[in-house]
Amino acid sequence: MRVLLVEDDVRVAGALETALRRRGYDLLRAGTAAEALAAPPVDLVLLDLGLPDGDGLEVCRELRRRGDVAIIAVTARAEERDRIAGLRIGADDYVVKPFGMAELQARIDAVMRRAARSAARQGAVTVGPLTIDLDAHRVTSDGTEISLTRKEYDLLAALARRAGAVVTRDQLLADVWQTTWVGSPHTVEVHVASLRGKLGDPALVQTVRGVGYRLRTDR
Ligand code: CA
Repeated sequence: MRVLLVEDDVRVAGALETALRRRGYDLLRAGTAAEALAAPPVDLVLLDLGLPDGDGLEVCRELRRRGDVAIIAVTARAEERDRIAGLRIGADDYVVKPFGMAELQARIDAVMRRAARSAARQGAVTVGPLTIDLDAHRVTSDGTEISLTRKEYDLLAALARRAGAVVTRDQLLADVWQTTWVGSPHTVEVHVASLRGKLGDPALVQTVRGVGYRLRTDR
């Protein structure tokens, strides 16, 4: 796991770097807001909010705007307002100086667990009578479970992730068969036919001639 440590206090940063490296983290260091924003992408940012060249809160906001990274804000005891503001603009958690490694490790573990959960969760797609639970790999029609083969499920899930949009045959081959080439040119058709047979409403999977298939959202 790659961590960006943003801390202008060289002594604090040095001690943290040693402790984090010992725990197996791949560590990058930044001493200023500018360095923090110029750093390559990481999994987690430990962000001191009191930086010499700018506001740590601004750094936090910018990192959050760029995408999905776990951020733990680090503040001094007196900066309670910053703590709250930090959480509001996208920090996942905070620690207050001085803190021990055990506390920091517990925060890191909690934040990374949460990040892993939200990355893994895909939710469910409901189309007419069908509910495709992409986390549980379950498909129900009006509440009754439909038993699908692995490929039938993968095919339906690939369509459900883009429900309402046309998914090309090539995309399906790549998503479901992890290839753009399979022996029989009819492989996708055959699986679509068997899937339709099990869905109750065969028209749910619409053929878009010459292009691919669409899971209809207007049924
Ligand atoms: Ca500082």
